[in-house]
Amino acid sequence: MVKKLTCIQCPKSCSLAVDIENCRVAHVSGNLCPKGDEYARAEVENPLRILTATVLAQGLSLKMVPVRTDKPIPKAKIREAAAEIRKIRVTQALNVGDIIVADFLGLGANLIATRKT
Ligand code: SF4
Repeated sequence: MVKKLTCIQCPKSCSLAVDIENCRVAHVSGNLCPKGDEYARAEVENPLRILTATVLAQGLSLKMVPVRTDKPIPKAKIREAAAEIRKIRVTQALNVGDIIVADFLGLGANLIATRKT
């Protein structure tokens, strides 16, 4: 199976053709540099995403606090992470970058505030 991807590692946006066999990348073409090959392999075999969301605030001027993970997490864990975020209540003032949950879901990424409360 050949999957088409667009490399997002630089503004050239190379169109990649990714040959996939048994859920593994067999070959990548269309990339102008090795970063495209790395990107395609990661995107097919272990896609990662920064999760952005909001958590409920209680007793603060904001009703919702925008948050994100400080590192990408596996795309396969996004739904579980979003469900966990819905359980969180922020009750103390935060600055941008303050950690709300360390090592979120044991994924090695912290959940941090992206706005001062
Ligand atoms: S393959 Fe290389 S040159 Fe092409 S978009 Fe990706 S990083 Fe840029």
